[in-house]
Amino acid sequence: MIVSCRSPLYQLAPVALQERLLSWQTRLRRWLTRPAALAQTRNAIADSQWLSREGWQSLQFAAVRDLALHAARHTRYYQDVFACLGTDPSAWTSLDDLSRVPALSKDEVISIGDGLLARDGTWLRFQGSTSGTTGRAMRGWRDQASVTFEQAFVDRQAEWAGYRPGDRRAWLRGDPIVPTRQQGGPLWRFNRADNMLMLSSYHLSRYNGLAYLHALESFDPVLLQAYPSSVAYLARLLEDEGRHYRGPALRGIVTSSETLGADDRRVIAERFGCPVFDWYGAFERVAAIGTCEHGRYHVMEDYGVTEFEDNGDGTANLIGTGFGNRSMPLLRYRSDDRVVLADPDFQCGCGRSFRVVERILGRVDDVIRTPDGRHVVMLDWIFAGLFGLIEAQVVQERLDLVRIRIVVAPEFSAQDEQHLLQRARERLGPQVTLRIERVPAIERTRNGKFRQIVSRIHSRQDIR
Ligand SMILES: [Zn+2]
Repeated sequence: MIVSCRSPLYQLAPVALQERLLSWQTRLRRWLTRPAALAQTRNAIADSQWLSREGWQSLQFAAVRDLALHAARHTRYYQDVFACLGTDPSAWTSLDDLSRVPALSKDEVISIGDGLLARDGTWLRFQGSTSGTTGRAMRGWRDQASVTFEQAFVDRQAEWAGYRPGDRRAWLRGDPIVPTRQQGGPLWRFNRADNMLMLSSYHLSRYNGLAYLHALESFDPVLLQAYPSSVAYLARLLEDEGRHYRGPALRGIVTSSETLGADDRRVIAERFGCPVFDWYGAFERVAAIGTCEHGRYHVMEDYGVTEFEDNGDGTANLIGTGFGNRSMPLLRYRSDDRVVLADPDFQCGCGRSFRVVERILGRVDDVIRTPDGRHVVMLDWIFAGLFGLIEAQVVQERLDLVRIRIVVAPEFSAQDEQHLLQRARERLGPQVTLRIERVPAIERTRNGKFRQIVSRIHSRQDIR
């Protein structure tokens, strides 16, 4: 798209034209999401968030049966699946019937390819793909209705964070809104159509970070939407400076696209002086989890049917059936992401009856495996309370070799480094060789995402 910030035109344009292009991109997106359809979905989900458990279960049953019927009639793959099962979704009588459909993994979706595309789809379709940082990249198709559906839920999460349409907001995510070759000058752009200050997450450094904070405080947004690693970086800078964020209008921060660590969440909330609302949405559009005003992670039950595949250790894999994408319907897609389960009878003070999970752990690949057979996922605490530590990444090279790459401020002492080493040793065990490496920066993935854990162990043979 010519107006996209990834286009050569944008990358070469002067700042004033770049800002216009960002506004045009917003207007084009608004047109694509069809304002009337968006308003209709937003109104519907403004009501459905308050449904009782029985209420959302019956909504799910109607929606999933409708989607399965559509898939059975219009996709080659599901036509075969239902022929093999000897049943038709029109005969389904409860949500339990969905479990007869075999779950699909990412590799299976890649192999099936076009067999999952609806033959009656509209001409206007968009292709996306997973970032492909681990394993094979998966391509997926979405249509206009799917984009609209997704937008309505993202908007509802922003409203839970105190944002109202038209309010000032700020954006610190993976969009390359400032060309990477640019070093000086403002590292943000104003998008007038969205009343939004967009800051580049690719230029975060100690020096630039202070300028970012100043720009944010001057603009004074009501909402900040950010990658957790980017806003945590700014929060740690504030901590180093011994001060708090000074914009009086800020009501909430919505983080998404990366796993939000407990310690990062605490530092962000403390330094920015507002609650953090973490949003989980899978690229495959099969499940969504948002944060309510009481700080709880709720499964968006009106977005799709989310099943928890219990791993027996308090964690579960997500199997999702999203209602939003009829161009490429996925029934029971097994995502690579895991959650920590909460008490199933927990009733949230916000009044919603949507199920709650304790934490989102992120991708299954993002674990450290130890020679004694453990899978270690929660590593935030080894970094907690180390002043001067700006960012850290744990890289598992071999089963018995882990590198910890750190970006630090001058006050990070040799003693701090010893603390870090000691904690990592306690967590990973004595058989693992640990190396701490000080680096000037930690590179992002192709989509600008930060990964706290990188494992280079992939095959079963490597694990022995
Ligand atoms: Zn709640």
